[in-house]
This record gives sequence, C-alpha cells and structure tokens, in this order.
Amino acid sequence: MGVKAVDGVQSEISTGDSSGSDVPVEAIRKASEIFLQEVFGYESFREPQQEVIERVVSGKNALVLMPTGGGKSLCYQIPGLIRPGLTIVVTPTISLMQDQVDALTQAGVAAAALNSSMDPADRKRVWARLHSGEIKILYLAPERLLLDGFLDQLASFKPGLFAIDEAHCISQWGHDFRAEYQQLGALRRHYPMIPVIGLTATADPQTLKDILKVLDMSTEDLYSTSMNRSNLRYLVEPKDQPRKQLLKFIRDRHAGEAGIVYCGSRKKVEDTSTWLRKEGIRAVPYHAGMASSERTMNQQLFQREEGIVVVATVAFGMGIDKPNVRFVAHLDMPESPQHYSQESGRAGRDGLPAECWLCYGWQDVMMAQRRLAEAEIDPAQKRIRRHQIDAMLAYCETSECRRLNLLRFFGEEGEPCSETDQVCDNCSGKIELVDGTILAQKLLSAISKTGQRFGKAHVIDVLLGNATEKVTRFGHDHLSVYGIGTELDEAGWHSVFRQLASRGLVRIDLEGHNGISLDARCRSVLRGEEVFTFRKDPLAKKSSRKRKKKKELGLDAMEASLFDRLRKHRLQISKELEVPPYTVFHDSTLVEMSQLKPQTMSQMAMIGGVGQKKLEKWGQGFLDIITS
Ligand code: ADP
Ligand code: ZN
Repeated sequence: MGVKAVDGVQSEISTGDSSGSDVPVEAIRKASEIFLQEVFGYESFREPQQEVIERVVSGKNALVLMPTGGGKSLCYQIPGLIRPGLTIVVTPTISLMQDQVDALTQAGVAAAALNSSMDPADRKRVWARLHSGEIKILYLAPERLLLDGFLDQLASFKPGLFAIDEAHCISQWGHDFRAEYQQLGALRRHYPMIPVIGLTATADPQTLKDILKVLDMSTEDLYSTSMNRSNLRYLVEPKDQPRKQLLKFIRDRHAGEAGIVYCGSRKKVEDTSTWLRKEGIRAVPYHAGMASSERTMNQQLFQREEGIVVVATVAFGMGIDKPNVRFVAHLDMPESPQHYSQESGRAGRDGLPAECWLCYGWQDVMMAQRRLAEAEIDPAQKRIRRHQIDAMLAYCETSECRRLNLLRFFGEEGEPCSETDQVCDNCSGKIELVDGTILAQKLLSAISKTGQRFGKAHVIDVLLGNATEKVTRFGHDHLSVYGIGTELDEAGWHSVFRQLASRGLVRIDLEGHNGISLDARCRSVLRGEEVFTFRKDPLAKKSSRKRKKKKELGLDAMEASLFDRLRKHRLQISKELEVPPYTVFHDSTLVEMSQLKPQTMSQMAMIGGVGQKKLEKWGQGFLDIITS
C-alpha cells in the first residue's frame, strides 16, 4: 500500500525531463515523506536527509558526509524509489550486499544484488527481473560496473541514479583505497545527465577533495554533518594485563552483548578468542588467514545471532552494518585517528549507547614507529604516517575530551562531551589532573644529563636510583639527577614519559638504539615557563564502576524483561527467514516497543521502524507478546 500511495507523485516526476530538474520541490517533499513513513516506518527526517533527497531527486549530484549510523542509506534509497528507472548502488563489500537487499526486501522494496559470489541460477534470475523492469534498486561491486561493456548495457535498464557508497575508497589518502573506485569518474562521462550521490562516514579534508575531483563535483554538492557520535562513549586504558582488562570490560559493562575486539595480528586474534571462550564469552575469530568458509560462517554468526563477540584483525568490518554492536574494543593501538573512528564507529549504529574502549601501551607506539621506519614508502607518505601515529598517541594520552580530540583530526572544532552525550572517560571527572611540571622537569633533565642517547628504561633507572650495571658503568650514579625520582614507581615514570612524548616534547631515535632525545619545545617546561598538566595514571586506581547493561539502554526492570521477550521472538522470526535479526526490527524499535507498549495495531504502526509491510507481517506477533 505504501508504495502505491506515491504513484501519483511519481508519475508527476516521471513526466518531467529525464534529469528531473523541473519537478516541483513540493511534490518531491510529499513523496519522500510518504516513503519515509510508509516504507521505512520513521516519523521525520534527520539532518540533512531531506535536503539531500530533494537535491538528488531533482537531478543534481550530492556528496554526503555523515557519521556511521547517521542514516546515509535513506539518502539514496528514497530517491531511488521516487526517481524513474533503476538505481545502481556501488558498494565495495560483496558479503554485505545481501544483507542490505534483505533489509530492503523486508520493507517491501524491489531490490537485488549482482556479484561474482552468486551462483549462476541466482544471477540469471536477477537478470530476468532486471529485464522485466521489476527491480528498483540494484547493488553492485565497482569491478562489475567497470567490466567491459557493462556501462553501455546498463542503458537498456534506464538508470535513474547512481549511488557510490563508502566513497572515501576513491582517495589514496583514505584508509581503504581501491583502485576500481578511482575509475568511477567513468560514470559521469557515460551518463552526464544521471545524478550521482556519493556517501562516506570518514573523510578528512584531503580525502574529500579527492572524492569531489574524481566524481566531478563541487563543494556546492557537499552535505556534511558533524562527525560527532553522541551515543558513543570513548574510554582509554593503559596496558597492564590487556586480556584481563578486556575481560573485565566485557563482563562488567557488556555481558551478553555483541561486540568487536580488534587485535594487531592474526596470532593474537586466535589466542584472544580462544581465551575469551574459555572464560565463558561467546567469541569467534576472524582474520584473512582463515579459510574463507570459516570466515563467512563467523561473520554470519555475528550478524545473525545475539551477543557474539568477534575477535578480528582490521580485515573484519569494512561495511559491517550490524546495528546493535554495543562495544568496539582495541587491544592494540589503531594506525591513525581515521582508522580509529572508522573501526570504533561500527559500535552503536542504531543510535543507542555503545562504548569504544582502547587499551594501549608504549610498545604499540614503538612497534608502529619501527614498522614505519622500515617501510619502503616515499618521504612525503612517511611524514603523513608519522603524523598519524603521533595523533593516535596524543588521543591516548590526552587529558582533554577524547571526542573533541578525535573530531579535531577531521577538521572539526567541536564541543567537549555534554550532558546528552555518552560522556568520555576524561570528561567523566574520574581522571585526576595534577600539576606535573616538576615531574616533567626531572625526566627531561635526566634525559639531557645522560646525553640524549639512552633508552627509556635506563633513564628511569637513573631517576629511581637503581644502581644497575649499566648505570654504574656509565657513571650515571654520580649525576645530580640520580635517585631524584623516588616519588613515582617505574609505571608512574612510564606514564610521565608517554605524556611528554604525546605532546612532542621528547623523541625516539629509531635509527640508533631507541635513544631518547629532547625536542626544542621542551625548553619552556624546563625553565618553568609552561605548566605541564599531568594525568595521574588510572592504572593505580580501581577500574570504573559497574553498570547494568539494561540501564544503559534506558529500560527499567519490567521493560527490560519485555525487551528480552521481544528479542527472543525476533530471533525466532529471523531464524525462520534466515536473515539477520535487525532486518526484522532494530534494537531501537524493540526498545521503543518495550517502553511505549502499544496495545493496538495502529499504535504499533507509530513505533519508529515499523513500516506498513513489517506491520502487516509481524505487528500482530509482537503485539501479542506485549499484551499477554
Ligand atoms: P549509515 O549508513 O549512515 O551508517 P544507516 O543508513 O544504516 O546509517 O542508518 C542507521 C540507522 O538509523 C538505521 O537503523 C536506520 O534505519 C536509522 N534511520 C535512518 N534514518 C532515520 C530517520 N529519519 N529516523 C529514524 N531512524 C532513521
Ligand atoms: Zn569528553
């Protein structure tokens, strides 16, 4: 019914010229609202969905920069439904196409995917449906689109819109560069009259510039919203016993919930997931070295079941769109803030509270620096990479708001966590800040007095007055700085050191023996002209207090028990249909049902995420549970 209701508006749009540029804005607005409510079951648009939709339907291009979970899909799906002809969605990850198609199909939209992993019979069926003009939205990998002759062949299906998902893959600066993406400019040359919409969740200014260039767009086409994800809480812990810290984090804050744990190596992935399983967590591994069947199985398990923890290398996740990932944990420092916001951004796509937890140690920084020193890349690239490692270290060690620190990397001057945000650890007031100028001066002078060529461990030995063989051999037990640092233990000094490094006051000589030297900027601290604010190492303190997970979702005990029953029912449906649970209803929809407890079908229709089709199929079933 929903789709019919807009037939009138749609024919009005079809009668315009093929670019759609003379369609009255009012008509577009009306059509898009009807689709939003009847097909997708949402009340109102989010910023800047409506503007983007109006622009694209009227035949103009757009590049949409919105954070993960912001609602980019509707920006092309609704125009795809309104515009005459076929909408082609280019997306890089074959494994995810089917999930998107499933989700659209459940909402009553004629969607399909074409890719190399399908069996020939399925592929033939899709071609037949394409020829009969039945399909509205078609998902493709870029390599298929660029196959010889495919672009010409498309003409017979009357393309009405091209959507380029994960558009940052166009840029070499981006972290997921794909050569085929760079050739997507061919679309514009082949079909100059057909609008193109690009979408991405991570783009620093340089990447944006590249996307605009390849897609032949201008800044006029750009729609960007703040990259801030107010539903994500950012937490950082210094590495002590990382696995135990992880287990505690999961048990205390995310028992029974879905999450991703990123590790730096395949071996660590295997070890960590085995260990977590032994500790009673439902964990599965995922990395590029595993058999692809096993990988697919684990990915599907994660998508389709509740409460699975995937332990993975960064090979896992591009385009993972499971909405109810409640946490993303990193056991090793990510490569750059870009990587981090992409990886951590996979948490909480449904807009409900989720946590991004990062455990890091100095060895991570050393390893990254070492790898960079050995990498055979040109000096300009090296500079960029060095800058990214520094920025990551600064994120880990900062005493300012983590949210603010991340946003700044994307050129955004945001605000620190507010009351409506999931408050980060630094803003929560649990971090103790002290004037650490004297500590900094002690460490800086010890580095200076020992000649700026010894490693960190040795300098700390000198400060602590440890008469090691090396200390006596170099006569460092006679220095004025010998034994002046007993107010801190070794871990304490490591922390001071990391904080000095994160502000660029000391550097490590990787060509030699990891000797530490001073940066000219440290002079003002040494002279006492600059206060060095120091964050007390949280390792010394007890970890954050426990929280009840259902409380995190904002549910009281009654509601939480209803939520669980609704979730079970959803799982049953999704198992019968062999689709991921969230294609039935998102967690956020179930939360709303648990709180509002609709008593009739028309009340049920008012719940966010309950569109006409889903109401018909499943409304009564969920209603029965609520009213029983
Ligand atoms: P993105 O692709 O930007 O990461 P999605 O398009 O997957 O995000 O949308 C994220 C979530 O927000 C989905 O659950 C989607 O159904 C929901 N959503 C999108 N637009 C709206 C809206 N206008 N009102 C309510 N929910 C919305
Ligand atoms: Zn904050």
